[in-house]
Amino acid sequence: MKALTYHAAKDIRFETIPDAKVTAPHAALVRVKACGICGSDLHIYQGHGFSDDVGFCVGHEAVGEIVEVGAHVESLKVGDRVMISASVGCGLCAPCRAGDVVRCDRNAGGCYGLSHALPGCQAEAVMVPHADHNAALIPEGLTYDQALMLTDNLPTAYLGAKNADIRPGGTVAVVGLGPIGLMAVEIAYALGASRVYAADLVPERRAMAEKLGAIALDPGDEKALLKEHTRGALAGSVIEAVGADATLKLALQLAGKQATVSTIGVNQTKQFPFPMALAFNKGLTFRTSLCSVMVHWPDLVPMVRSGRLKPEAMISHRMPLADGAHAYAMFNDRRDGALKMVLEC
Ligand SMILES: [Zn+2]
Ligand SMILES: [Zn+2]
Repeated sequence: MKALTYHAAKDIRFETIPDAKVTAPHAALVRVKACGICGSDLHIYQGHGFSDDVGFCVGHEAVGEIVEVGAHVESLKVGDRVMISASVGCGLCAPCRAGDVVRCDRNAGGCYGLSHALPGCQAEAVMVPHADHNAALIPEGLTYDQALMLTDNLPTAYLGAKNADIRPGGTVAVVGLGPIGLMAVEIAYALGASRVYAADLVPERRAMAEKLGAIALDPGDEKALLKEHTRGALAGSVIEAVGADATLKLALQLAGKQATVSTIGVNQTKQFPFPMALAFNKGLTFRTSLCSVMVHWPDLVPMVRSGRLKPEAMISHRMPLADGAHAYAMFNDRRDGALKMVLEC
């Protein structure tokens, strides 16, 4: 089958790899209809991936159609349209059964497309382990585009917002306005924020946040502007959606007294110098977590179905899987208004 594979920094290839197969009775094979490129895929693209493997199939966001099921799969059948959760669990332990796969008791929690261990879904087909738990029928009334956003980005944005303790009437700051940060702006308002401030270096991304009702903060002056707007109070909730040292630092600066800072980006340097004195003096709560995607579906599906959240609006480009390398380069360089890149099979 055709797939996108990682070989070295900035070297993603569209090539033929062995066909994905149902390898266990609980697994299912999904023919991929569309897959997304995630901000965390860019870590791999830039050569700071999650393993030393090369030649593995990348990608962890996909929707498609079941083409084969193992003997023990009960809830899905051939022909079903499914969304595949980016986070994967054993499907058997208590946390996994409740959908909270990042707390998997058997440490089977994982993600597609980070190494050879669980091949990715930027491919014509993908094997879903414990398919009853790790994939779900696309809910009635949702499009493939909306379902694709539910496989990772929207739940991650929602987790980031929930972890930020947003209160009705609260002031929220969002740092980093990729698709996840922009959706966090929308979610913050849905959760009752009175004002959402938004920071990013890219002018088009700040403009997009303004369209969602946010007040954009100009680069370099973020803290001063926020201070002025809030009469010194700064933000009660801060969502950081990048994970870089500079954006983490900014997020902590934008936090007011007794604020909560929530980060959902992957920190690449792995040695962020946490400003303990600043956190202590402000009385901050700092939260970070991987996202158990499916645990958020019951909250999010109705909000998407009703149009309260419009995650599909983040899709900026759509191209064939064969053009995947080009899509990665565009997204990496934030070229041509690149936000959510969708690859179609
Ligand atoms: Zn992702
Ligand atoms: Zn488990």
